[in-house]
Amino acid sequence: MERAHQQSRRAFLRHSGGLVTASTVMGLSAAQAGTASASADVDRSRQQVTTLADSHYYLSDVSLEEGFEREGDVVIGTRTGIHTLEIQNGRIKALHDANATLDTALPRYGARGKLLLPAFRDMHIHLDKTFYGSPWQAPRPRQGKTIMDMIAREEVLLPQLLPTSQMRAEKLIALLLSQGSSVARSHCNIDPVSGLKSLEHLQLALANHRDSFECEIVAFPQHGLLHSKVDGLMREAMSMGVHHVGGLDPTNVDGAMEESLDAMFQIALDHHKGVDIHIHEASPAGVAALNYMIETVEKTPELRDRLTLSHAFALSILQPEELDEMAGRMAAQGIAVVSTVPIGRRTMPLPQLRAKGVKIMTGTDSVIDHWSPFGTGDMLEKANLCAQLYGGSDEFHLSRALAIATGDLLPLSDDGQMAWPKPGDKAEFVLVDASCSAEAVARRSPRQATFHQGRLVFGAVDRA
Ligand SMILES: [Zn+2]
Repeated sequence: MERAHQQSRRAFLRHSGGLVTASTVMGLSAAQAGTASASADVDRSRQQVTTLADSHYYLSDVSLEEGFEREGDVVIGTRTGIHTLEIQNGRIKALHDANATLDTALPRYGARGKLLLPAFRDMHIHLDKTFYGSPWQAPRPRQGKTIMDMIAREEVLLPQLLPTSQMRAEKLIALLLSQGSSVARSHCNIDPVSGLKSLEHLQLALANHRDSFECEIVAFPQHGLLHSKVDGLMREAMSMGVHHVGGLDPTNVDGAMEESLDAMFQIALDHHKGVDIHIHEASPAGVAALNYMIETVEKTPELRDRLTLSHAFALSILQPEELDEMAGRMAAQGIAVVSTVPIGRRTMPLPQLRAKGVKIMTGTDSVIDHWSPFGTGDMLEKANLCAQLYGGSDEFHLSRALAIATGDLLPLSDDGQMAWPKPGDKAEFVLVDASCSAEAVARRSPRQATFHQGRLVFGAVDRA
């Protein structure tokens, strides 16, 4: 039985245009072992390349979704076709049919029939204090520990992590690229122990990847904005080029909900930044904090479209009518939610929020650190979790679940029209060893190559 399965798998892969090159399999397993290489292994017989410096070129033999297959009203499959992308100056200039006449003067690369998906976006990660890239180390037991205990643990850990934090951030960036994520938002500790050093190291890491990886930084007062008295440091961080003011549980950590949130918003207003707050409080105090933040944005037009609630667990304890009311107010003010799609104790009401028009994003949070050892850096895993948690095991709902990984870009619209890519779109995409989005979400299919601003930043393509 097993042998038959392997044979049919090999036959399938031959038919679908390639050996499973070690690149895809080894790229992932090596990455998950903490040794991600920025490039996949190369099948020399196919003249693959792992770098691509042309500013104007063709990428042929790309599989694009063209529509849904239906049985009556039911979507039962996804139709794809082979196309050639023309890429110029970081954008998709044109889409050509497979048999179109191409300019022979332009360089041409081949995608082996792999599926094109929008690049993934990891919108909540901590690149600055990961264990990733270092020897295995599990978090200490969390039972009975409060967030204040975790902060005390950090005060011991940060001095140990800082000397190598740039190296580990760069390894984690390589992992994200290998998973298809080339856009991210990283929180970065601003605390009395590390001062601005975490930020300086993260900025050095990002500078080394500025051509391959785009990352916003949130200055994150992990030890409490008021509790650790870092208002001044936060303001210094703003002048160092961070993009957002962070925050943290204003009741449980700072013990002064309104004062803490006011201070956070004031930094944002003074420096013309957005806000992205960690709000874990799943309690009436957490609900009160959400209400206070929404009211603040409602009264302060400069904050409209500039507040992100990370985690926002308090939304999971609301009654349906309360949730509807709050979600409506959030949507009206452009307040977004980033969820790691938690499983277990609480299920976030992501479909209800989305139905009300709230923008929903996801992120890794921790890949491996003193908070959690379970992260994979894989946004397809998050889409897969959404599909499992929210009842989406059919072709249509699997394909829709991809949206949380891509910033809401989907190859097909809900009615099955080609929606992405279009000429003029940024050339930011991932080639996946899958037949369609639904399969990629359900099976978390291997990534073959990642492109950022038209550049190959992970994996390999054929030199045609
Ligand atoms: Zn976080």
